[in-house]
Amino acid sequence: MTSIQPSGLHHVTAVAADPQRNLDFYHHVLGLRLIKQTVNFDAPDVYHLYYGNQEGEPGTVLTFFPFPGAPAGRRGAGQATTVSFSVPPESLGWWRDHLTRSGVDADPVTTRFEEEAVAFHDPDGLALELVAHEHAPHEPWQDGPVPAEHGLRGFHSVTLTEQDLDATGSLLLDTLGFATDRQDGDRVRFEVADGGPGRFVDVVADPRAPSGLVAAGTVHHIAWRAPDDETQARWRGELVEAGIGVTDILDRQYFHSIYFREPGGVLFEVATDPPGFTIDEPLLELGRKLRLPPWLEPRRDQIERHLPSLELPDYDGNRV
Ligand code: ZN
Repeated sequence: MTSIQPSGLHHVTAVAADPQRNLDFYHHVLGLRLIKQTVNFDAPDVYHLYYGNQEGEPGTVLTFFPFPGAPAGRRGAGQATTVSFSVPPESLGWWRDHLTRSGVDADPVTTRFEEEAVAFHDPDGLALELVAHEHAPHEPWQDGPVPAEHGLRGFHSVTLTEQDLDATGSLLLDTLGFATDRQDGDRVRFEVADGGPGRFVDVVADPRAPSGLVAAGTVHHIAWRAPDDETQARWRGELVEAGIGVTDILDRQYFHSIYFREPGGVLFEVATDPPGFTIDEPLLELGRKLRLPPWLEPRRDQIERHLPSLELPDYDGNRV
């Protein structure tokens, strides 16, 4: 046992193909705010686009590496295969109509763990869900294209597909401080820090599932929240102690990160809540301009030349 206990999901990062199509979908259709326009710090010729609520609070942030022309990935074992957001229960009908009007095929409403959900895919095939929940901990973006009363209220959960439930379950329970007492069919729900939306991870066990392949339309990694640098450093020590191969602490500008793979192969990150997305631009201007960390700023001209241009929505959230 360790003392590790994340306070929930911090962010989820996925792969897309076309950056403009990605922005159009997450802004205009899902009503998330583009809160940061930067590059992949490990491969600065690729954008890193961050979407979230008004402030980009940890627990609301979905990010993408859009590689123009990227081939489609394959959903499968060892992957986070579905990303679920919370919406108010009375909004599910509105969302089904809105998705249909927007040309997105949504599945009929299903019920799981006594919660209703609507499933659909983003333009790259990433599996998404809206789950009805009355107690989502985050406020939606107030000024976006989706009326705030229906707006996405942060993550509800992430679903992992695994060939072996036990190995992943042990890591969650014994090392990462999760608990579980709920099962629905082949799905086991784990929860951390008292549970609730943003603190769930569902594991679907499928021994025959082929391994997933990370490319467009699949999740690259999921990040859990650490409250501060000191706690993160202590948790890192405990992961090393538990025999888990974990990276050094990396400066991601908006948070500090460590990475490791859970036994089934999903890349996990632990990211700090501070310093947050206002470290390099004011709250009102989040996402308006390409931001680079200080160590990439000297290469700005070269980086900008290689990135495809992006048409941003205007300040009122309309298409320009
Ligand atoms: Zn990350």
